[in-house]
Amino acid sequence: TPVPDYLQELLENIMTDSAGQVADYIPALAAAPPDQCAIAVSTVHGNTYSVGDDSVEFSIQSVSKPFVYAAALEGLGFEAVDQKLGVEPSGEAFDELSLEAETHRPKNAMINAGAIVAHNLFTIASNDHSERADAVTAFLSRLAGRDLHVDDEVFQSEMETAHRNLAIAHMLRTYGVITEEPHDVVRGYTAQCSVSVTVRDLAMMAATLADRGRQPITGEQVVAPHVARRTLSVMAAAGMYDGAGSWLTAVGIPAKSGVSGGLIGSLPGQVGAAVFAPRLDEQGNSARGIRAFSRLSADMGMHLFDPE
Ligand code: GLN
Repeated sequence: TPVPDYLQELLENIMTDSAGQVADYIPALAAAPPDQCAIAVSTVHGNTYSVGDDSVEFSIQSVSKPFVYAAALEGLGFEAVDQKLGVEPSGEAFDELSLEAETHRPKNAMINAGAIVAHNLFTIASNDHSERADAVTAFLSRLAGRDLHVDDEVFQSEMETAHRNLAIAHMLRTYGVITEEPHDVVRGYTAQCSVSVTVRDLAMMAATLADRGRQPITGEQVVAPHVARRTLSVMAAAGMYDGAGSWLTAVGIPAKSGVSGGLIGSLPGQVGAAVFAPRLDEQGNSARGIRAFSRLSADMGMHLFDPE
């Protein structure tokens, strides 16, 4: 079957499943149409295929986390980042304050606590949250291969209910894990989560990680190969939060989800794929996204622990 026909059939299949609810703790996300749905696949050779609502823009949310982690590693080096941030799965929810006992480092960069640290590290030279937002947006744009922007409505809406992330940032500041003013860091981090993308942008960004840090369309080496490998490793261990083990078992590729319904997966050396479907399961991962990736993995033989 040609790829677009296959993807169309896959889209129709996952649309029959209406399990899960849109995120409701951010007012702008609670208002999102729950049944928008799109799938995109991007090869490391630069071919992108997509079906469904593939031009709808939505906020990137936690799908930004692996990329900003990669940006911090690329900019500061492994040693500086590793001092402040672990690489262990937390086995807990995305908004849990999971810190290591001795060092007070967040367990990993995929949960909010760790993502706030990665954001702080990458934007350490910025003077305030708007400079932080600009730095992150510019970096994400290089991965997508086009100019992205912050959705101000989502940003404002999320800041109104950001009490938990503010609490996390203040706790991190107490331990000296972040060094800047906590409220300003959370504003920058929230702007990062509010960057608008399409499912095609996400597939391209995932393909960049799959291709050792090289953007498939522009050809730019955005991060070094060892940075891409580290990022994929942490995604495999913790990208699906407390659902990471069952994901690795069923689908078997590094992945990252977000509360707006975005979900990416990277198959090293081959493809990046993305699904946009806002209904979330108990862990806050896209329910239709998981269904799509489970089938994709089975149909295409994508599981990393399946020898050819
Ligand atoms: N911006 C969201 C938050 O910090 C991101 C969470 C997510 O997508 N899982 O709560």
